[in-house]
Amino acid sequence: MSQHERHVRVAVIGSGFGGLGAAIRLRREGVTDFVVLERADSVGGTWRDNSYPGCACDVPSHLYSFSFAPNPDWPRTFSGQRHIRAYLERVADTFGLRPHLRLGHEVRRMRWDNDELRWEIETGRGDLTADVVVCAAGPLSDPKIPDIPGLAAFEEQGGRVFHSARWDHGYDLTGKRVAVIGTGASAIQIIPAIQPEVRRLTLFQRTPAWVMPRMDRPITAAERWLHRKVPATATARRGLLWGIRELQVSAFTKRPNELGLVENIAKANMARAVRDPELRAKLTPDYRIGCKRILLSSEYYPALARPNVDVVAAGLTEIRGNRLIGADGSEAEVDAIVFGTGFHVTDMPIAERVTGADGITLAESWKDGMESLRGATAAGFPNWMTIIGPNTGLGNSSMILMIESQLNYLADYIRHLDRLGPGTTLAARPSAVAAWNRRVQDRMKRTVWNVGGCDSWYLDANGRNTTIWPGTTAEFRRATRAVDLSEYEVVRVRDRGSRTEEALA
Ligand code: NAP
Repeated sequence: MSQHERHVRVAVIGSGFGGLGAAIRLRREGVTDFVVLERADSVGGTWRDNSYPGCACDVPSHLYSFSFAPNPDWPRTFSGQRHIRAYLERVADTFGLRPHLRLGHEVRRMRWDNDELRWEIETGRGDLTADVVVCAAGPLSDPKIPDIPGLAAFEEQGGRVFHSARWDHGYDLTGKRVAVIGTGASAIQIIPAIQPEVRRLTLFQRTPAWVMPRMDRPITAAERWLHRKVPATATARRGLLWGIRELQVSAFTKRPNELGLVENIAKANMARAVRDPELRAKLTPDYRIGCKRILLSSEYYPALARPNVDVVAAGLTEIRGNRLIGADGSEAEVDAIVFGTGFHVTDMPIAERVTGADGITLAESWKDGMESLRGATAAGFPNWMTIIGPNTGLGNSSMILMIESQLNYLADYIRHLDRLGPGTTLAARPSAVAAWNRRVQDRMKRTVWNVGGCDSWYLDANGRNTTIWPGTTAEFRRATRAVDLSEYEVVRVRDRGSRTEEALA
């Protein structure tokens, strides 16, 4: 794309599940004048960026895939990153998305033009304008490394440092002393994968995780044959996986105490592998299961029980030379540090790059907490939609279900714009955004994420849960089936430089 090359109807940002899904849906709606702006050099989003050893999805593959692009050939019940990434590459081919992809186009700035009623977008490879922006940059795309005193000096002295989502495949961990920081979904997959290679592994655990066994197995050739020959069997399998998870939701959202029974399964998972009572005590959480994401692994505890592993039951606070210091004063000399410390979710950097109709950035607009209407649109940001926006995350099921709901909403949004005619914008009414968030936060009060006694990335700096959807995926599907025009202000350009606002009843 050259400087100021063009105007497009829709600019999609990101080419993970959300961005590719949006692109497919736009084409199905007959919109072909769109581009997908992707900062990296290939598609795949989080499944491209996370290539750490052991990376796999903890949601079964037959549910963690598009309903409109089933894959009868998933190799395992919980497929690995390589297979999920390959699936997304195939999806890009099958649905003819390649001509729309603009790889290596990092979005630097976006500004709403109040006169032209369109978005001005500055990328690393030229500028463009768009009537509508679909931001599918993803909440788990910008790695977070804590500001640890001594970290820069550690690197300067030859120590290696990398984040789980930026794995350095050129660095051989064999025979090295390695620290892993964190006990989230990423760290618990990395630890068993690297433990056999490294000389010494020290886990800095600030908070222990609840870890359930993972019933992973190869999907047999017979099952795959059946899914290929009789696609209804794959649909039924998906339906079953979905239904089980829907039934679990009320325990998370209304009756967290019921989850206490599940804690026993996680405790047995630990007891099977960890004989040392002292280590078991360190690894036992003191909050309700489900408050943080429930992790699945049958290899994590056995790895921690191996003789070359130490668990420091404290956060990493400081680095002196090549010695890592825990909050409890313990020390470990290491050659490399792997940060499994998560992502900028409630403070996502892309929000700083978007300036809306009132001249303020999305980050400023969200300074007291992220808020949107139905997880999609934001007050002051016309013709703007987020895929996996605020309060659309799930604690127990497949995000692809939520993404597909949002694609329905996107399709209806575009249909409304078509019907209203060229030069029209839809801007979420602040009152509608506030009403939606009151309902969401009201439901949140009783959920395990808020009352379970833990701190997690689901909560923002003010302790508000702006990430998780406090209901079933079916409820979200209903809430996003169609755009309710009374929740929007319709703005029309009558001619350049002037605008007319229409209040719709
Ligand atoms: P995360 O869940 O945010 O975990 C970050 C970890 O870093 C936490 O255990 C945190 O401790 C720890 N930490 C931060 N600063 C620390 C310090 N100074 N010392 C010690 N520990 C420190 O990040 P993640 O594991 O990358 O997972 C993020 C999300 O990605 C997951 O929740 C999930 O949604 C997704 N994910 C999914 C899969 C999958 O299989 N589908 C796999 C990987 C990731 P505290 O607990 O004390 O805050």
